[in-house]
Parts: sequence; structure tokens; C-alpha cells
Amino acid sequence: MSKLIVIGLSIVYSIIIAFFCALPSLLIQRSAVAYFSTFFVLLGLELFVGKLWNYWVDNKTTIEMGKIDATNALINASQSIIIECAYCRTKNTVKIYVGSDNKYTCTGCKEINSVKLGLKSCRVTNPVMPKEQVSEIFKNLN
Ligand SMILES: [Zn+2]
Repeated sequence: MSKLIVIGLSIVYSIIIAFFCALPSLLIQRSAVAYFSTFFVLLGLELFVGKLWNYWVDNKTTIEMGKIDATNALINASQSIIIECAYCRTKNTVKIYVGSDNKYTCTGCKEINSVKLGLKSCRVTNPVMPKEQVSEIFKNLN
């Protein structure tokens, strides 16, 4: 609904601007045909430029939103780990991102470290006992 109001106001403003900007053509040529032809050319030009402007703003907004989404995805994909410094063995809390060298400065010795990730496959295991039985055991413990 608000988009329709914005479009309606844009058209009204364009008509008003074209109305006044076409007046010199009426004063110079003193013919209604010249006035209306100038009026419609100006109106068309304004709407075309407005459309181009909206296209540019929409594109820019889409790109910015994409950047924000990518940043959020990166933040959500991070995992905090506690890792020892390679120089002084001080324990540091570091955010780890896949696809990055994950450099960090040690809080103890101020040296720059890089985190090397190692990946390993694991077998998928099934619980030995059904969930209900496990919760029953925990209930009895309390
Ligand atoms: Zn250190």
C-alpha cells in the first residue's frame, strides 16, 4: 500500500514539475500543441530518470543486503575454541572460521599465531538405550 502511495506521489510531483517547466514553451510559441508536446516529453523524461534512479537504488540496496547476509553467515559459522599459544603456551579464546587462516594475537606474549584446522570423519552412533529409558534412569537418580 505504501509503495502505491510513493508511486502516486512521484507521478503527481512529476506532473507538477512538467506543468511548470513546459510553461516557457507556451509563452514562446503561444500554442497549446507546443505546450503539451513539451509537457509530455518532460513528463516522460522525469519518469524515465526516476525509474533509472529507483533501479540504481534497488541494486545498491540488494548488494548491501547481500554483504550483511554474508557477514551474518560468517559470524554464525564461527566457533569459539580455547587454544594454546605456539610460543608461550598461554590459553587463548579464539573465534574459528572455516576457510580462514584464523590469525590471533596471544594475550600472554603478544605474538601472532595462526590456527591450523584438522578434520576427521566419525561414525554415526545410535543410542544404546531408547531416550525414554535414559530419562527414566535420570528421574530415578534424582
Ligand atoms: Zn603467547
